[in-house]
Amino acid sequence: MTKTDPESSGSDDKKNLKDLTRAELRAFVADELGEPAFRGDQLFRWIWARGARSFEEMTDLGRALRARLAGVAVIPTGAVKKRTPASDGTVKVLTELAGGASVETVWIPDWGPGHAGTIPEPDTPPEPGARAQVPRPSRITLCLSTQYGCAWGCRFCYTATMGLGRDLRAWEIADQVLVATREAPDALPTPVDPGSKPGDKGGDKVALNLVYMGMGEPLANLEATIRSIQILTDEQGLAIPPRRITVSTVGLVPAIERLIDETGVRLAVSLHATTDAQRDEIMPVNRKWKLGELLDAVRALPMGKRDHVTFEYILLAGVNDTPEDARRLVRLTHGLRAKVNLIPFNPHPGAPYARPSDEAVSAFKEALRDKGVHTYVRRARGDDVLAACGQLAGEGKVQRRPV
Ligand code: SAH
Repeated sequence: MTKTDPESSGSDDKKNLKDLTRAELRAFVADELGEPAFRGDQLFRWIWARGARSFEEMTDLGRALRARLAGVAVIPTGAVKKRTPASDGTVKVLTELAGGASVETVWIPDWGPGHAGTIPEPDTPPEPGARAQVPRPSRITLCLSTQYGCAWGCRFCYTATMGLGRDLRAWEIADQVLVATREAPDALPTPVDPGSKPGDKGGDKVALNLVYMGMGEPLANLEATIRSIQILTDEQGLAIPPRRITVSTVGLVPAIERLIDETGVRLAVSLHATTDAQRDEIMPVNRKWKLGELLDAVRALPMGKRDHVTFEYILLAGVNDTPEDARRLVRLTHGLRAKVNLIPFNPHPGAPYARPSDEAVSAFKEALRDKGVHTYVRRARGDDVLAACGQLAGEGKVQRRPV
Protein backbone atom coordinates (compact mmCIF):
# COMPACT_ATOMS: atom_id res chain seq x y z
CA MET A 1 0.00 0.00 0.00
CA THR A 2 1.24 3.49 -0.75
CA LYS A 3 2.05 5.44 2.37
CA THR A 4 0.98 8.99 1.71
CA ASP A 5 0.92 10.38 5.20
CA PRO A 6 4.02 9.42 7.14
CA GLU A 7 2.85 11.32 10.23
CA SER A 8 -0.40 9.48 10.67
CA SER A 9 0.98 6.13 9.58
CA GLY A 10 3.70 6.46 12.22
CA SER A 11 6.27 4.91 9.89
CA ASP A 12 8.38 8.00 9.68
CA ASP A 13 9.01 10.92 11.99
CA LYS A 14 9.58 13.51 9.31
CA LYS A 15 7.50 16.66 9.65
CA ASN A 16 4.54 16.88 7.29
CA LEU A 17 4.80 20.49 6.03
CA LYS A 18 1.52 20.24 4.18
CA ASP A 19 -0.40 20.05 7.44
CA LEU A 20 0.95 23.39 8.65
CA THR A 21 -0.53 26.83 8.27
CA ARG A 22 1.82 29.50 6.95
CA ALA A 23 2.39 30.87 10.47
CA GLU A 24 3.34 27.39 11.63
CA LEU A 25 5.68 26.90 8.67
CA ARG A 26 7.42 30.17 9.54
CA ALA A 27 7.82 28.98 13.11
CA PHE A 28 9.08 25.58 11.93
CA VAL A 29 11.87 26.95 9.75
CA ALA A 30 12.89 29.45 12.43
CA ASP A 31 12.77 27.10 15.44
CA GLU A 32 13.77 23.78 13.91
CA LEU A 33 16.11 24.85 11.12
CA GLY A 34 17.42 28.17 12.39
CA GLU A 35 16.47 29.81 9.09
CA PRO A 36 14.81 33.21 8.67
CA ALA A 37 11.02 32.94 9.02
CA PHE A 38 10.36 34.25 5.50
CA ARG A 39 11.69 30.92 4.21
CA GLY A 40 8.46 29.51 5.64
CA ASP A 41 6.48 31.85 3.38
CA GLN A 42 8.54 30.66 0.42
CA LEU A 43 7.84 27.03 1.27
CA PHE A 44 4.15 27.74 1.69
CA ARG A 45 3.99 29.43 -1.72
CA TRP A 46 5.81 26.54 -3.39
CA ILE A 47 3.46 24.01 -1.86
CA TRP A 48 0.12 25.75 -2.23
CA ALA A 49 0.43 28.40 -4.97
CA ARG A 50 2.70 26.41 -7.25
CA GLY A 51 1.72 22.88 -6.29
CA ALA A 52 5.32 21.71 -5.73
CA ARG A 53 5.61 18.05 -4.84
CA SER A 54 9.30 17.87 -4.01
CA PHE A 55 11.93 20.09 -2.41
CA GLU A 56 14.12 19.83 -5.54
CA GLU A 57 11.65 21.99 -7.41
CA MET A 58 12.11 24.85 -4.97
CA THR A 59 14.96 26.44 -6.84
CA ASP A 60 15.11 29.69 -4.88
CA LEU A 61 15.76 27.91 -1.59
CA GLY A 62 19.41 26.96 -2.13
CA ARG A 63 20.75 23.47 -2.56
CA ALA A 64 21.90 22.96 1.04
CA LEU A 65 18.58 23.99 2.55
CA ARG A 66 16.68 21.79 0.12
CA ALA A 67 18.79 18.81 1.14
CA ARG A 68 18.25 19.56 4.84
CA LEU A 69 14.51 19.85 4.28
CA ALA A 70 14.41 16.52 2.47
CA GLY A 71 16.08 14.98 5.51
CA VAL A 72 13.58 16.21 8.09
CA ALA A 73 10.33 16.98 6.29
CA VAL A 74 7.89 15.70 3.68
CA ILE A 75 5.22 17.23 1.40
CA PRO A 76 2.90 14.31 0.70
CA THR A 77 0.08 14.29 -1.82
CA GLY A 78 -2.86 11.93 -2.27
CA ALA A 79 -2.33 9.05 -4.70
CA VAL A 80 -4.97 9.19 -7.42
CA LYS A 81 -6.51 5.76 -7.91
CA LYS A 82 -9.27 6.54 -10.33
CA ARG A 83 -10.57 9.41 -12.38
CA THR A 84 -14.14 9.05 -13.61
CA PRO A 85 -15.49 11.62 -16.07
CA ALA A 86 -19.26 12.02 -16.37
CA SER A 87 -21.12 12.96 -19.53
CA ASP A 88 -21.72 16.54 -18.32
CA GLY A 89 -17.99 17.25 -17.89
CA THR A 90 -17.96 16.57 -14.15
CA VAL A 91 -14.95 14.54 -13.04
CA LYS A 92 -14.91 12.35 -9.94
CA VAL A 93 -11.44 11.73 -8.51
CA LEU A 94 -10.79 8.86 -6.10
CA THR A 95 -7.71 9.37 -3.96
CA GLU A 96 -6.05 6.78 -1.81
CA LEU A 97 -4.89 7.94 1.61
CA ALA A 98 -2.86 6.39 4.40
CA GLY A 99 -4.28 3.55 6.44
CA GLY A 100 -6.47 2.12 3.67
CA ALA A 101 -8.71 5.19 3.51
CA SER A 102 -9.84 6.69 0.24
CA VAL A 103 -11.91 9.73 -0.58
CA GLU A 104 -13.74 11.21 -3.50
CA THR A 105 -13.50 14.77 -4.75
CA VAL A 106 -15.76 16.09 -7.48
CA TRP A 107 -14.67 18.66 -10.07
CA ILE A 108 -17.76 20.37 -11.47
CA PRO A 109 -17.57 22.76 -14.43
CA ASP A 110 -20.33 25.31 -14.97
CA TRP A 111 -20.97 25.69 -18.68
CA GLY A 112 -23.22 28.71 -18.24
CA PRO A 113 -26.93 29.10 -18.95
CA GLY A 114 -28.60 26.75 -21.37
CA HIS A 115 -26.33 23.76 -20.89
CA ALA A 116 -28.09 21.46 -18.51
CA GLY A 117 -26.63 18.01 -18.87
CA THR A 118 -23.87 17.92 -21.46
CA ILE A 119 -20.60 19.54 -22.42
CA PRO A 120 -21.43 22.20 -25.02
CA GLU A 121 -20.39 21.66 -28.63
CA PRO A 122 -17.67 23.98 -29.91
CA ASP A 123 -19.00 27.01 -31.83
CA THR A 124 -17.17 26.03 -34.99
CA PRO A 125 -16.32 22.44 -35.91
CA PRO A 126 -12.56 21.80 -35.79
CA GLU A 127 -10.56 21.72 -39.05
CA PRO A 128 -9.82 18.16 -40.12
CA GLY A 129 -6.82 16.96 -38.16
CA ALA A 130 -6.90 19.91 -35.74
CA ARG A 131 -7.50 19.56 -32.01
CA ALA A 132 -11.14 20.16 -31.12
CA GLN A 133 -11.89 23.56 -29.61
CA VAL A 134 -12.43 23.06 -25.94
CA PRO A 135 -15.33 24.77 -24.25
CA ARG A 136 -14.49 26.94 -21.31
CA PRO A 137 -16.52 26.72 -18.11
CA SER A 138 -17.62 30.01 -16.60
CA ARG A 139 -16.64 28.71 -13.19
CA ILE A 140 -15.59 25.53 -11.48
CA THR A 141 -16.92 24.12 -8.24
CA LEU A 142 -14.90 21.59 -6.28
CA CYS A 143 -16.73 19.35 -3.86
CA LEU A 144 -14.39 18.30 -1.02
CA SER A 145 -14.62 15.42 1.41
CA THR A 146 -13.75 15.80 5.10
CA GLN A 147 -14.04 12.23 6.39
CA TYR A 148 -13.56 8.74 5.02
CA GLY A 149 -17.17 7.63 5.42
CA CYS A 150 -19.60 9.29 7.84
CA ALA A 151 -21.09 8.46 11.24
CA TRP A 152 -24.40 10.34 11.03
CA GLY A 153 -26.51 7.76 9.26
CA CYS A 154 -28.82 9.95 7.15
CA ARG A 155 -31.20 7.43 5.62
CA PHE A 156 -31.06 8.78 2.07
CA CYS A 157 -27.28 9.13 1.78
CA TYR A 158 -24.93 6.62 0.16
CA THR A 159 -21.87 7.71 2.14
CA ALA A 160 -23.80 6.92 5.34
CA THR A 161 -24.00 3.24 4.40
CA MET A 162 -20.20 3.02 4.84
CA GLY A 163 -20.12 4.11 8.45
CA LEU A 164 -17.18 6.24 9.64
CA GLY A 165 -13.70 5.10 8.66
CA ARG A 166 -11.66 8.02 9.90
CA ASP A 167 -11.38 11.79 9.95
CA LEU A 168 -9.27 13.35 7.24
CA ARG A 169 -6.37 15.49 8.32
CA ALA A 170 -6.33 19.15 7.31
CA TRP A 171 -3.77 18.58 4.56
CA GLU A 172 -5.81 15.71 3.15
CA ILE A 173 -8.81 18.03 2.85
CA ALA A 174 -6.89 20.96 1.35
CA ASP A 175 -4.77 18.76 -0.94
CA GLN A 176 -7.95 17.70 -2.76
CA VAL A 177 -7.92 21.11 -4.43
CA LEU A 178 -4.43 20.54 -5.85
CA VAL A 179 -5.19 16.95 -6.81
CA ALA A 180 -8.53 17.65 -8.50
CA THR A 181 -7.09 20.59 -10.37
CA ARG A 182 -4.26 18.42 -11.67
CA GLU A 183 -6.67 15.66 -12.61
CA ALA A 184 -9.17 17.91 -14.35
CA PRO A 185 -9.45 17.42 -18.10
CA ASP A 186 -6.11 18.45 -19.63
CA ALA A 187 -7.72 20.55 -22.24
CA LEU A 188 -9.67 22.71 -19.84
CA PRO A 189 -8.05 25.78 -18.33
CA THR A 190 -6.86 25.14 -14.81
CA PRO A 191 -8.34 27.45 -12.23
CA VAL A 192 -5.09 27.49 -10.31
CA ASP A 193 -2.64 29.36 -12.40
CA PRO A 194 0.82 28.39 -11.09
CA GLY A 195 2.51 31.49 -12.49
CA SER A 196 0.13 33.99 -10.94
CA LYS A 197 0.82 36.03 -7.88
CA PRO A 198 -1.71 36.42 -5.09
CA GLY A 199 -4.33 38.97 -6.03
CA ASP A 200 -3.62 38.76 -9.78
CA LYS A 201 -6.72 39.38 -11.81
CA GLY A 202 -5.37 36.92 -14.39
CA GLY A 203 -7.84 37.39 -17.27
CA ASP A 204 -7.65 33.73 -18.15
CA LYS A 205 -8.45 32.27 -14.79
CA VAL A 206 -11.73 30.57 -14.09
CA ALA A 207 -13.43 31.38 -10.79
CA LEU A 208 -13.12 28.55 -8.31
CA ASN A 209 -15.74 27.79 -5.67
CA LEU A 210 -15.29 25.22 -2.95
CA VAL A 211 -18.10 23.32 -1.31
CA TYR A 212 -17.45 21.09 1.68
CA MET A 213 -20.21 18.75 0.57
CA GLY A 214 -18.40 15.54 -0.29
CA MET A 215 -18.01 12.53 1.96
CA GLY A 216 -18.25 13.13 5.69
CA GLU A 217 -19.53 15.72 8.15
CA PRO A 218 -17.17 18.73 8.25
CA LEU A 219 -18.29 19.87 11.70
CA ALA A 220 -17.58 16.43 13.17
CA ASN A 221 -13.97 17.01 12.06
CA LEU A 222 -13.96 20.67 13.04
CA GLU A 223 -10.29 21.28 13.83
CA ALA A 224 -9.10 19.83 10.52
CA THR A 225 -11.88 21.58 8.60
CA ILE A 226 -10.96 24.98 10.06
CA ARG A 227 -7.25 24.39 9.50
CA SER A 228 -7.85 23.35 5.87
CA ILE A 229 -9.78 26.59 5.33
CA GLN A 230 -6.94 28.61 6.87
CA ILE A 231 -4.54 26.96 4.42
CA LEU A 232 -6.76 27.34 1.36
CA THR A 233 -7.67 30.99 2.01
CA ASP A 234 -4.12 32.13 2.80
CA GLU A 235 -3.29 35.00 0.45
CA GLN A 236 0.15 33.57 -0.29
CA GLY A 237 -1.24 30.18 -1.25
CA LEU A 238 -4.33 29.42 -3.28
CA ALA A 239 -5.90 32.58 -1.87
CA ILE A 240 -9.47 31.35 -2.19
CA PRO A 241 -11.76 34.00 -0.69
CA PRO A 242 -13.78 32.67 2.29
CA ARG A 243 -16.92 33.92 0.55
CA ARG A 244 -16.29 31.38 -2.19
CA ILE A 245 -16.25 28.52 0.29
CA THR A 246 -19.45 26.89 1.54
CA VAL A 247 -19.41 24.38 4.38
CA SER A 248 -22.43 22.13 4.71
CA THR A 249 -23.53 20.46 7.94
CA VAL A 250 -26.20 18.06 9.10
CA GLY A 251 -26.62 20.49 12.01
CA LEU A 252 -24.00 19.94 14.71
CA VAL A 253 -25.30 22.89 16.67
CA PRO A 254 -22.39 23.50 19.10
CA ALA A 255 -19.85 23.72 16.25
CA ILE A 256 -21.67 26.11 13.91
CA GLU A 257 -20.82 29.35 15.65
CA ARG A 258 -17.13 28.53 15.94
CA LEU A 259 -16.82 27.57 12.28
CA ILE A 260 -18.32 30.85 11.10
CA ASP A 261 -16.49 32.98 13.67
CA GLU A 262 -13.10 31.58 12.86
CA THR A 263 -13.32 31.28 9.08
CA GLY A 264 -15.94 33.62 7.61
CA VAL A 265 -17.09 30.95 5.16
CA ARG A 266 -20.67 30.54 4.04
CA LEU A 267 -22.87 28.07 5.84
CA ALA A 268 -25.20 25.50 4.32
CA VAL A 269 -27.51 23.47 6.53
CA SER A 270 -28.94 20.13 5.46
CA LEU A 271 -32.50 20.68 6.70
CA HIS A 272 -34.43 18.09 4.67
CA ALA A 273 -37.54 17.98 6.88
CA THR A 274 -40.02 20.40 8.40
CA THR A 275 -41.07 18.60 11.59
CA ASP A 276 -38.99 16.94 14.29
CA ALA A 277 -40.86 13.66 13.83
CA GLN A 278 -39.98 13.60 10.13
CA ARG A 279 -36.40 14.70 10.67
CA ASP A 280 -35.83 12.21 13.53
CA GLU A 281 -36.80 9.55 11.04
CA ILE A 282 -34.55 10.46 8.11
CA MET A 283 -31.68 12.19 9.97
CA PRO A 284 -30.73 10.57 13.29
CA VAL A 285 -28.73 13.70 14.22
CA ASN A 286 -32.10 15.36 14.89
CA ARG A 287 -32.60 13.19 17.96
CA LYS A 288 -29.70 15.09 19.48
CA TRP A 289 -30.29 18.62 18.18
CA LYS A 290 -33.88 19.47 17.31
CA LEU A 291 -35.01 21.68 14.45
CA GLY A 292 -35.75 24.56 16.83
CA GLU A 293 -32.25 24.49 18.34
CA LEU A 294 -30.68 24.26 14.91
CA LEU A 295 -32.60 27.25 13.57
CA ASP A 296 -31.87 29.25 16.73
CA ALA A 297 -28.15 28.62 16.18
CA VAL A 298 -28.46 29.84 12.60
CA ARG A 299 -30.43 32.91 13.66
CA ALA A 300 -27.75 33.78 16.21
CA LEU A 301 -24.99 33.99 13.58
CA PRO A 302 -23.61 37.41 12.80
CA MET A 303 -24.83 38.19 9.28
CA GLY A 304 -23.49 40.98 7.14
CA LYS A 305 -25.69 42.74 4.61
CA ARG A 306 -24.62 40.46 1.78
CA ASP A 307 -24.64 37.23 3.77
CA HIS A 308 -27.15 34.46 3.58
CA VAL A 309 -27.43 30.93 4.82
CA THR A 310 -28.31 28.11 2.46
CA PHE A 311 -30.80 25.45 3.47
CA GLU A 312 -30.49 22.23 1.54
CA TYR A 313 -33.74 20.36 1.22
CA ILE A 314 -33.70 16.95 -0.38
CA LEU A 315 -36.99 16.03 -2.07
CA LEU A 316 -38.04 12.45 -1.34
CA ALA A 317 -41.20 11.41 -3.16
CA GLY A 318 -44.13 11.01 -0.77
CA VAL A 319 -41.96 11.68 2.30
CA ASN A 320 -41.24 15.41 2.58
CA ASP A 321 -42.58 16.94 -0.65
CA THR A 322 -46.21 17.77 0.20
CA PRO A 323 -47.81 21.24 0.07
CA GLU A 324 -47.86 21.19 3.91
CA ASP A 325 -44.10 20.65 3.90
CA ALA A 326 -43.70 23.65 1.61
CA ARG A 327 -45.85 25.78 3.94
CA ARG A 328 -43.91 24.68 7.01
CA LEU A 329 -40.61 25.35 5.27
CA VAL A 330 -41.74 28.91 4.54
CA ARG A 331 -42.54 29.37 8.23
CA LEU A 332 -39.27 27.82 9.43
CA THR A 333 -37.12 30.09 7.31
CA HIS A 334 -39.17 33.20 8.04
CA GLY A 335 -37.09 36.22 9.03
CA LEU A 336 -33.81 34.58 8.03
CA ARG A 337 -31.71 35.78 5.11
CA ALA A 338 -31.91 32.37 3.56
CA LYS A 339 -31.71 30.59 0.27
CA VAL A 340 -33.31 27.21 -0.19
CA ASN A 341 -31.62 24.68 -2.45
CA LEU A 342 -33.98 21.88 -3.38
CA ILE A 343 -32.12 18.65 -4.18
CA PRO A 344 -34.31 16.07 -5.90
CA PHE A 345 -33.22 12.72 -4.44
CA ASN A 346 -30.30 11.13 -6.28
CA PRO A 347 -30.78 7.37 -6.31
CA HIS A 348 -28.02 4.93 -5.32
CA PRO A 349 -27.88 1.18 -4.83
CA GLY A 350 -30.29 -0.01 -2.15
CA ALA A 351 -31.88 3.37 -1.37
CA PRO A 352 -35.47 3.11 -0.09
CA TYR A 353 -36.57 6.44 -1.65
CA ALA A 354 -37.58 7.81 -5.02
CA ARG A 355 -37.11 11.14 -6.74
CA PRO A 356 -40.35 13.12 -7.17
CA SER A 357 -41.51 13.91 -10.71
CA ASP A 358 -40.26 17.12 -12.35
CA GLU A 359 -43.78 18.54 -11.95
CA ALA A 360 -43.78 17.83 -8.22
CA VAL A 361 -40.34 19.45 -7.85
CA SER A 362 -41.56 22.51 -9.75
CA ALA A 363 -44.72 22.78 -7.68
CA PHE A 364 -42.70 22.64 -4.44
CA LYS A 365 -40.33 25.31 -5.73
CA GLU A 366 -43.19 27.60 -6.81
CA ALA A 367 -44.96 27.20 -3.48
CA LEU A 368 -41.83 28.58 -1.77
CA ARG A 369 -41.20 31.29 -4.35
CA ASP A 370 -44.81 32.47 -4.08
CA LYS A 371 -44.08 33.28 -0.45
CA GLY A 372 -40.91 35.15 -1.33
CA VAL A 373 -38.40 32.45 -0.37
CA HIS A 374 -35.32 32.45 -2.61
CA THR A 375 -35.50 28.93 -3.95
CA TYR A 376 -33.39 27.05 -6.46
CA VAL A 377 -33.39 23.49 -7.71
CA ARG A 378 -29.92 21.96 -7.60
CA ARG A 379 -29.29 20.12 -10.81
CA ALA A 380 -27.73 16.70 -10.32
CA ARG A 381 -24.18 16.79 -11.66
CA GLY A 382 -22.21 13.71 -12.62
CA ASP A 383 -25.03 11.41 -11.53
CA ASP A 384 -24.26 8.95 -14.34
CA VAL A 385 -21.04 8.07 -12.48
CA LEU A 386 -22.40 8.39 -8.90
CA ALA A 387 -20.73 11.77 -8.41
CA ALA A 388 -23.86 13.72 -7.40
CA CYS A 389 -24.96 14.76 -3.88
CA GLY A 390 -25.21 11.80 -1.56
CA GLN A 391 -23.72 9.34 -4.04
CA LEU A 392 -20.07 9.32 -2.93
CA ALA A 393 -18.77 6.22 -1.22
CA GLY A 394 -15.05 5.93 -1.90
CA GLU A 395 -14.02 2.32 -1.91
CA GLY A 396 -17.12 0.70 -0.48
CA LYS A 397 -17.63 -0.25 3.15
CA VAL A 398 -15.54 0.42 6.20
CA GLN A 399 -15.72 -1.66 9.36
CA ARG A 400 -17.86 0.35 11.73
CA ARG A 401 -21.58 0.77 11.21
CA PRO A 402 -23.44 4.09 11.28
CA VAL A 403 -25.15 5.28 14.48
N1 SAH B 1 -22.47 16.00 6.00
C1 SAH B 1 -22.68 17.29 5.40
C2 SAH B 1 -21.86 17.49 4.14
C3 SAH B 1 -22.27 16.63 2.96
S1 SAH B 1 -23.22 17.63 1.92
C4 SAH B 1 -24.16 17.49 5.11
O1 SAH B 1 -24.87 16.50 5.08
O2 SAH B 1 -24.60 18.61 4.95
C5 SAH B 1 -24.05 16.52 0.91
C6 SAH B 1 -25.46 17.00 0.61
O3 SAH B 1 -26.11 16.04 -0.23
C7 SAH B 1 -26.27 17.11 1.87
O4 SAH B 1 -27.17 18.17 1.80
C8 SAH B 1 -26.97 15.78 1.85
O5 SAH B 1 -28.08 15.76 2.67
C9 SAH B 1 -27.31 15.65 0.38
N2 SAH B 1 -27.63 14.28 0.01
C10 SAH B 1 -27.29 13.14 0.65
N3 SAH B 1 -27.78 12.07 0.01
C11 SAH B 1 -28.44 12.53 -1.06
C12 SAH B 1 -29.15 11.89 -2.12
N4 SAH B 1 -29.24 10.58 -2.20
N5 SAH B 1 -29.70 12.69 -3.06
C13 SAH B 1 -29.58 14.04 -3.00
N6 SAH B 1 -28.93 14.69 -2.03
C14 SAH B 1 -28.36 13.94 -1.07
